[in-house]
Amino acid sequence: MVVGLNPSSWPILAPRFDRKGSDPADLVIANARILTCNVSNPRASAVAVKDGRIAFVGGIKGVSDHVGPGTVVINGKGRILTPGFVDNHCHVLWIGGLTGLMTTELFFCESAEEIKEIVLRQAAEHPDSLMVLAQGWKPHVLPQGVSRLELLDSWIGDRAVALMSYMADGWVNSKMLELMEERNPAAFERLEPEKDDSGAYNGLLRQFHAFNPLDFVSIEELGKGAKEMMFQAMGRTLDEALSVGVTTMDDVQNYKAFIPLILEFRDRGGLDKVRARCGYYVPNTVLDDEDAFVEDLAWWKEVGESESDEHLVMGRSVKLYIDGVASNRTTLFFEPYADDPNEYGEAVWTQEGFDRVVEIVDSMDLQACTHCVGDAGINRVINTYERAYKLRPGRDQRHRADHCSGPTREDIERLGKLGVYAAMQPTHFFGDETVEKAYGLKRLQLFQPWRSMEKAGVEMSFGSDWCAGPINPVYGLLVAGTRMNYRFKRNWGPRERIEIEDAIRHWTLDSAKALKMEDDIGSIEVGKYGDMVLWNHNPLKLNSLWFLLTHRLELGAMEDFVDMTIVGGRPVYRQEGSGEQSTLG
Ligand SMILES: [Zn+2]
Repeated sequence: MVVGLNPSSWPILAPRFDRKGSDPADLVIANARILTCNVSNPRASAVAVKDGRIAFVGGIKGVSDHVGPGTVVINGKGRILTPGFVDNHCHVLWIGGLTGLMTTELFFCESAEEIKEIVLRQAAEHPDSLMVLAQGWKPHVLPQGVSRLELLDSWIGDRAVALMSYMADGWVNSKMLELMEERNPAAFERLEPEKDDSGAYNGLLRQFHAFNPLDFVSIEELGKGAKEMMFQAMGRTLDEALSVGVTTMDDVQNYKAFIPLILEFRDRGGLDKVRARCGYYVPNTVLDDEDAFVEDLAWWKEVGESESDEHLVMGRSVKLYIDGVASNRTTLFFEPYADDPNEYGEAVWTQEGFDRVVEIVDSMDLQACTHCVGDAGINRVINTYERAYKLRPGRDQRHRADHCSGPTREDIERLGKLGVYAAMQPTHFFGDETVEKAYGLKRLQLFQPWRSMEKAGVEMSFGSDWCAGPINPVYGLLVAGTRMNYRFKRNWGPRERIEIEDAIRHWTLDSAKALKMEDDIGSIEVGKYGDMVLWNHNPLKLNSLWFLLTHRLELGAMEDFVDMTIVGGRPVYRQEGSGEQSTLG
């Protein structure tokens, strides 16, 4: 939640300073415990921001020179101040916008009946949309041995319905299959519709993470006011991120039809309080026409050059997939699934195909961010990046292995040696039992093996993968420091836990590096943007026995740990009742 910011209510430390500093700043925070995430100057107690950038980091004495009559001074009251968090991989704009049309409530449904109720309500609330959309369903709550197509058809037969699982499996009805096939067969095929033994579609789509409603319908066909609803939903998502200390987000996967909407949202001020980087989705069919692909990438770079500003970065990265998710058996393993000895998963690209597509991406100086989760999928990605680095050595491409959930021991070493960026999301520990069953407990001992990766010198960074996990970094920091999983148990590789302070660095400075933005963000350092978070809990204590004993360990119970979030020296979120408004000087 975002509280109105009234400058006249900012806490002032006026009496402590004579307000005659020779180099007055716009904002000074003093008397804080600052974790700068800058290795050459890790701790400080005061910081000054001028014209959006940090002008001073140090102690109370030095900062007084930056306090003039117009300087806003905030009393840190001994609380922790960190850099703004940088989410290395999330979907806050695209899916964030879609939540305006596509309720996320299915995540909380524990039976088919509950799902049905939400879907029928969603249909009633969006009577003029060509599609009834909802997301978040969990595969294990559906009855076994029942045709999902028939089940959904029996709920709604006369309108197209598309439901995305929380792991991005697709489940659609007959009307939706018809609509997709008719409007855009190529985009439909990319979603990999499943067929039953008789060759008929069964209503499931294996690559539904690539679902973009605008491939099939216009924004107007999604109902009256659809665009406004999307913009409002995007705004809500970004406000939620600010309320938990996330100031920069890499929305890794965007589609051509969506780019104009992002630009319009930005032009209307939608990104004024945050920073976002956008990646561009590359489907596995692009090699069918390499010239068109190269042209498309050139277009993407041009968009970046003409549109990027201090709140929005475009045209620098692309998003690829090498495998999928465990729930629909598309995670690619070397050894079979723990709950199915005949299943190894499947790849989106062959090694050769992936070599070629990355060679093209690399030759255009774009950064490849590739979804890879299974050990065999990760291995294929590393092989390709190794080849790309050999073909064009000495460049700073920072190709990324996104998620990088379960690398083999050998590949952990290779990631470090080759300098492949592992963009990881500790919040994936809050999946469900599908992951546990598919990986098996033995393989889970190397699930996101942070300690081993740190030892191997891997360039690791952290994020949320929202909406596949909570955007609040507190949960991920807790996982990093305890290895607690979705059951709040510690049986997934407890030896791979790491220091919380290192986890904070992975979520700030190291994520900034993964976004190639470390010159501007990621640490509290002179010259960078004044993006900071003032905490009311000490995040370094999240894994302490005291914390674990005195807090409710569940999702949703740790939403109020941030007192203030500051972007470019401007407070953009302040917690109600944090005391800030009553301590006027
Ligand atoms: Zn993702």
